[in-house]
This record gives sequence, structure tokens and C-alpha cells, in this order.
Amino acid sequence: MLDVEHLHVYYGKIHALKGVTLSVGKGEIVALLGPNGAGKTTTLKALSGLLKPGQGQITLEGEPLVGIPPHEIVLKGVAHVPEGRRIFNRLTVFENLEMGAYARSDGGIGQDLERVFALFPRLKERRAQVAGTLSGGEQQMLAIGRALMAAPRILLLDEPSMGLAPVLVEQIFETIQSINRQGTTILLVEQNAAMALAVAHRGYVLETGSVALSGSAAELHDNPDVRRAYLGEA
Ligand code: ATP
Repeated sequence: MLDVEHLHVYYGKIHALKGVTLSVGKGEIVALLGPNGAGKTTTLKALSGLLKPGQGQITLEGEPLVGIPPHEIVLKGVAHVPEGRRIFNRLTVFENLEMGAYARSDGGIGQDLERVFALFPRLKERRAQVAGTLSGGEQQMLAIGRALMAAPRILLLDEPSMGLAPVLVEQIFETIQSINRQGTTILLVEQNAAMALAVAHRGYVLETGSVALSGSAAELHDNPDVRRAYLGEA
């Protein structure tokens, strides 16, 4: 569904992505793992049009995405939940969700709102609350809910577990699986490799801007290098 080929991204002289090739199949959850600074966030930003690649191709069901502005990429079905959530703090929960659907003109918005409220009952309870006063976990739910309001074909999630208490991390990953079972394809960037590999079908390990390893979640989970570097084994 989503194909990335030989992607290079530069920040000035810094060569952040050095020929990344990866793919995400329809219906999959694919995990993108790797240490700090490996280029995971940069990859998601290039996919959603926030960064322009120096070289390489990105296609969504065969249609090129490079050079298309971010708001049009959303309309094509790619929704990005950025690191650190970036919700609109002064707007209410409901207004944030409405913003997620701002570019849509189809009739499915009400139904998607119900879907988000079913996935996150807490957001329904708090629909009139100003988003900046939500807890960290609730803000993450809102960021994911807002992205779902764009009715994406693929959801790009950047570190959804970051800063959350363990019980909330489990909840967020369960919800990610529910979203996927409802038909949304997911590319998941995570520092929490154990949780990511528990929910993903496949994964890639990025190191210093290149894909160092790839395989099924089970293969990566059993790989001694992955176990040592990312799963906390001595
Ligand atoms: P983390 O897990 O720490 O978020 P990451 O794998 O997402 O790491 P990126 O944020 O994609 O890594 O960064 C990749 C490289 O690009 C790093 O060396 C980083 O310092 C550099 N980089 C990222 N953003 C910028 C920027 N705006 N200007 C210059 N260099 C940047």
C-alpha cells in the first residue's frame, strides 16, 4: 500500500536518511524501531509531506506522494500523529476532533466521531473540556482520535507510548490493535520495542539513517542483536 524507495533526507548538511526502503502492506501494523537519532521521526515527516526528500520515491497505492503538500497528503489518506501529540491546547476535545475532519466533504464525519468515541470513551466524557487540561494519556488519545477523524487509509504514529504510565501504554497499544482490526493500516514508530513488536506484524530497525534489519515481528523479537539493543537483554 505504502512504498518508500531509496529515500534520502537532508537537514542542511546533515544526511538524516540515507536511502531508506520500506513498505507497509494494506491491513498491516509495521513497527519502525531504532535508537535516538536514527531517523524514525524524519521518515514519518517525509511520508506526510512535512519534509521534502532530497531523493527517493514514496507512493501510496502506486500514486506518488513526493512534492505533494501535507494537507493534500491527508486527503489522500495518510494521517500523522506527531511525537509530543501537538493537539490544540485551547480548543475543546470536540473542537480538536472537528479539526481532524476539516478538509473532508464526505458524509461520514458523524460516524467517524462515534467510532473515535467508542475507541476512547474518555474523550466522549471529556468532549467539552479544554484539551490543554487533559492528562498526558488523554492527550495521546485525542491526538490519535483527531488523526482518525481524517478517515485515513494509513495512520503514522510517532512514539504513542512516550511519557505514559505502564497501564496507559498497554491501553494505547490495545487501541492501536483495535484501530487496525477495524481496517486502518498502521506505521508505528516506537522506542518501546517490546510493545511495538507485540502488536506489529512486521518491523524495520533503522540505524543512522539506514535500514539495518527487517523481518516479521517474531523474527525481530528473536534476533539476538534486537534482543540486546532494544529489548534490554544483556
Ligand atoms: P528520536 O527517537 O530521538 O526521536 P529519531 O530516530 O526519530 O530519533 P530523527 O528525529 O528523525 O531521529 O533524527 C534523525 C537525525 O536528523 C538526527 O541526527 C537528528 O539530530 C537530525 N535532525 C532531526 N531534525 C533536525 C533538524 N530540524 N535540523 C537538523 N538536524 C535534525
